[in-house]
Amino acid sequence: MGSSPKSLQAIMGAPGVRGKRVTALSKGGLIDFIQSIVFSKQDSREPFYVLDLGAVAGLVDRWTRALPMARPYYAVKCNPDPAFLGTMAALGSGFDCASRAEIESVLALGVSPDRIIFANPCKAESHIRYGASVGVNLTTFDSRDEVEKIRKWHPKCALLIRIKAPDDGGARCPLGPKYGALPEEVKPLLQAAQSAGLAVVGVSFHIGSGATNSRAYQRAIAAAKTAFETATRLGMPRMRVLNIGGGFTADPQFNEAASAVKAALKSYFGNESGLTVMAEPGRFFAESGFTLATNIIGKRVRGELREYWINDGIYGSMNCILYDHATVTCTPLACTSNRANPTCKGARTFSSTIFGPTCDALDTVLTGHQLPELQVNDWLVFPNMGAYTAAAGSNFNGFNTSAILTHLVYSNPS
Ligand SMILES: *Cc1c(COP(=O)(O)O)cnc(C)c1O
Repeated sequence: MGSSPKSLQAIMGAPGVRGKRVTALSKGGLIDFIQSIVFSKQDSREPFYVLDLGAVAGLVDRWTRALPMARPYYAVKCNPDPAFLGTMAALGSGFDCASRAEIESVLALGVSPDRIIFANPCKAESHIRYGASVGVNLTTFDSRDEVEKIRKWHPKCALLIRIKAPDDGGARCPLGPKYGALPEEVKPLLQAAQSAGLAVVGVSFHIGSGATNSRAYQRAIAAAKTAFETATRLGMPRMRVLNIGGGFTADPQFNEAASAVKAALKSYFGNESGLTVMAEPGRFFAESGFTLATNIIGKRVRGELREYWINDGIYGSMNCILYDHATVTCTPLACTSNRANPTCKGARTFSSTIFGPTCDALDTVLTGHQLPELQVNDWLVFPNMGAYTAAAGSNFNGFNTSAILTHLVYSNPS
């Protein structure tokens, strides 16, 4: 896996990438590339993404080096861009799917169903039936009703009991309020699965998305061990799978999180032979490879304040500000008003507001952001826009998020 010449070859042949133009970038060449796109499409000033496949390969390498024992199942919901999914598949990742459509899109890459976990603890019966029909044979549950549905529609499916992590790790998006068996529910749920004749092969958890406190992994792995012991006491076949979920961020906490996971695996599962460890990172792989370029479509000056309208916003890619509690940032690209110095180095800055294109005042992307004086038809570039962005954008007011194009580049991973 990762950024070797072999993986470069695999990425270029990946579904979603094959046949598309992939531009090789030198270090720091991203802004030049964005400018070249802008200049080559003077007539179309639609927003666009740039996806750096080399950066994705670098992250896969980084994961493999830090957590070689934990096989990643990329969480599709975070960003289902086809080239990105194809790249992850070519690099050997598994996939966490939460719906029929997500499973379909992963199978369409030629990925075999045993590389998919249906990691939604509460699934519609029709989706369970679909999973059974295509051979996705691993899923999660945290309720008796789910046991009953799976018994009815997919009794050969192996199960992981999703437990609630004791600590949400200071997560931006805690998942505990919605999912995960409470400590006192673990035993009755295991018994329910046992009497339904279903195989519970392990435990899963998710400490919450965008977690900042690595201790949460340690506490959750300890709780998982308790669930393993409960299964043993009930005389069930030995559990063998531990799924540590997602919650990882690429920087700067990743090394800390990886150390916490490794230490906890050692202390709680050190003598558990034949344990399979899986993980479901979404943000870690998707966030940093995507850069979004937006065009300034309007401007207003109010005294010292500068106000700009751009052609993507809160109802589009920047929905992450609302739903993912994200903070976005941007840099200017004055391709139109300052061609000699498009990044405006050394220019005087003004406190600026950036609005999205819809007619809702909520559609405000940034306030109090220092920017040089820009003009209509200049551009703003937003880095790290791959996680929970376009995936949850809408069509509100006729601004269609799914129509935003993605250009592919490959920089050499450092
Ligand atoms: C959303 C989700 C993930 C991905 O979480 P990240 O914080 O993006 O890593 C993984 N597993 C499940 C079950 C999820 O719901």
